[in-house]
Amino acid sequence: MSQYWSPAVRELTPYVPGEQPREQLVKLNTNENPYPPAPGVGEALRHYATDHLRLYPDPTSADLREALAENFQVTSSQVFVGNGSDEVLAFAFQAFFCHQAPLDVPAITYSFYPVYANLYRIELRKHPLTANWEVDIEALAANTERGGVIFANPNAPTGHAHSLETIEALLKRVTDRVVLIDEAYVDFGAESAVTLINRYPNLLVTGTFSKSRSLAGLRLGYAVGSEELIDGLERVKDSFNSFPVDSLASVVGIAALKDTEHFEACREYVITTRERTRQRLEALGFEVLPSKANFVLAQHPSFAGAQLYAGLRERGILVRHFNTPELNNFLRITIGTDDEMDSLIEALQTICA
Ligand SMILES: *Cc1c(COP(=O)(O)O)cnc(C)c1O
Repeated sequence: MSQYWSPAVRELTPYVPGEQPREQLVKLNTNENPYPPAPGVGEALRHYATDHLRLYPDPTSADLREALAENFQVTSSQVFVGNGSDEVLAFAFQAFFCHQAPLDVPAITYSFYPVYANLYRIELRKHPLTANWEVDIEALAANTERGGVIFANPNAPTGHAHSLETIEALLKRVTDRVVLIDEAYVDFGAESAVTLINRYPNLLVTGTFSKSRSLAGLRLGYAVGSEELIDGLERVKDSFNSFPVDSLASVVGIAALKDTEHFEACREYVITTRERTRQRLEALGFEVLPSKANFVLAQHPSFAGAQLYAGLRERGILVRHFNTPELNNFLRITIGTDDEMDSLIEALQTICA
């Protein structure tokens, strides 16, 4: 606390990201992709004329938005880009969720949502997950006030994904407020709701280059939705920072989008390794929640989450442990390479022996 902090800043509860260690560890804690970005990314960087850095980037990121629009079969006026999808989410909270009425959100979901809600003084109405650890769509749809709805699909940190039919059923009921679906992990086996944006003007879908495109260090995220929603985001952006996406990020992002072959191959690897890891964890006695993401949430009947976390850390393996009553006993394990998962399983065999 400092006397110079404003009352609003005193009351913030900032998000705490997963550790980025400086030593060499098997790093399975922040859902990064274990494979490198598309080869075209390196090429784009090598051929990037550094003279461009002298100039401000295109404030509208037209080229990148066009590339995304082509990828999603929408128009570029239905695409917004930002400095990581976290920033896009922050803009969306400000643009659509700052109402008197509360924002409907699952009780367990991406832990940045409550942080933004606190920053913007938005009240949350939290809905417990179902007995199967699924987002309770029925509960999210039940209210009629003007607030909004947000959740991640697949959800974090459970990995559960609802089908497109379920998402559409929600949208048929909720027409008077924005429904934001955070698809950070959609490429690892779930169905994207982007195909619904032309029918539901209140649907905003966000995504990121950080996970399935192996570009977490670049900071590039996007939103796809009706023109009126995208205009709302632009208004916030241009009242905050006209250039959230730098010219280098734009060039790299386009190169990554072009390489569908590399993209498909990497996500297939991750999905295959995920299913193998799941079987091996189950063989060790773990309960593993079914996941459509690049991580699994798992718990062991005889060992506490914190104990397993510490044992793995001692052996040079970093996973994520959430110190909340509901998730205390779980580990969230990012899917790495097969070698990395071998190390994880070996270490767990020793710890659980
Ligand atoms: C990782 C993650 C993000 C943030 O992605 P960035 O684009 O790297 O900011 C957003 N939502 C969820 C659910 C995530 O897990």
